[in-house]
Amino acid sequence: MMPRVLSIDEARDIVLRATRPLPAESVGLSAALDRVLAVPVAAAHDVPRFLNSAMDGFALQAGPAGRTLSIVGESRAGSPATVTVGPGDAVRISTGAAVPAGADAVVMVERTRERDGDVHVEAETTPDQNLRHPGEDMRAGAVVLPAGTRVGPAELGVAANAGVANLRCFRRPRVVVLATGDELVTPGAPLGPGQIHDSNALTLAALARRAGAEVVHAGEVPDTPQATEAAVRAAFTMADVVVCSGGVSVGAHDHVKPALLAAGVQERFWRVALRPGKPTWFGVRQSQLAFGLPGNPVSAMVTFLLFARPALLALQGADPGTPRERKRLTRPVARHAGRDECVRVSLDGPDATPTGPQGSHVLTSMLGADALALIPRGEGELPAGSSVEVERLPR
Ligand code: AMP
Ligand code: MG
Repeated sequence: MMPRVLSIDEARDIVLRATRPLPAESVGLSAALDRVLAVPVAAAHDVPRFLNSAMDGFALQAGPAGRTLSIVGESRAGSPATVTVGPGDAVRISTGAAVPAGADAVVMVERTRERDGDVHVEAETTPDQNLRHPGEDMRAGAVVLPAGTRVGPAELGVAANAGVANLRCFRRPRVVVLATGDELVTPGAPLGPGQIHDSNALTLAALARRAGAEVVHAGEVPDTPQATEAAVRAAFTMADVVVCSGGVSVGAHDHVKPALLAAGVQERFWRVALRPGKPTWFGVRQSQLAFGLPGNPVSAMVTFLLFARPALLALQGADPGTPRERKRLTRPVARHAGRDECVRVSLDGPDATPTGPQGSHVLTSMLGADALALIPRGEGELPAGSSVEVERLPR
């Protein structure tokens, strides 16, 4: 009996249920961009760590306008003053410098005039004026970055300020991309009769990198059982996730499924009620994952985005969520009777507009696409104005 063909959501569920976060490792801050935190980051000390000035000016005891104070020292960023400020004293101070003992305010330099070692203070000052207090930004011991955070530029800076030099991050998944097909030629190389340039190795590797993976190899594999099996076996010696494209249908030269099975992968599904991307195959080899994606360039990208990308995110301990929004079709879209369709659309406010011809070989339909519109299977056209669910494409 033929197994029932899975829906997109059922297939994605199977993938995510087979996926566990990779072990954590310690990563120096300068290498941690785009990694996901396995443990929270807590501040090692208060930030700011000491009472300091928000202005260039003079530290003093707050008081009325019109006083003349004697300048008894200087506190610079990185070199605190050692004097104590008395009622008639002022200490020259820079932004970020420690406020000396005895002072309870800073007057900005623009409100003062200096003469012969004295400073005339033109403005009234109130206690606390222009001071930054310890812990205003972070309290010692407080969690500033929860586990699961993806580290961006701001997170790196916050970690540095928190007194942390290394972050515990989930290991990034290692990915091998195998583009199968006798017709494939490296990009840029001259084309013989019937040959095409391999675009899948590039697009899939780029999508994997954008999803935070480390691509350890991406290249072409000829359509023989021996070459396919050898490439797959080699891939599993270095990868957490093996992504194949092409050769996963029922053609005489489709060797990916038998090669993956021979390499010890257990099939979890084959075929999804999806267009483009029906022949998508997924399997597991202990904790390693294998995707057999269809060869048509749009199908390969769409099925990677639907199934492989969430797995790569989950392997890094990141939220694999694929939130959906409702948008309004600006044009009618033909429905497929038996399969849900992923139509590439550009978004403009509430509107979703198909990017043009949607054939699975029309890779330019990915250009300018902001989202995949999920067109449920059905009879006839879905008219313009219909509300449809969309999944946004990453960055
Ligand atoms: P297949 O899934 O192997 O039957 O391939 C389906 C279609 O996708 C065929 O027209 C292939 O030539 C094309 N194709 C397969 N692999 C690639 C690739 N890596 N780059 C571009 N087109 C491909
Ligand atoms: Mg092929």
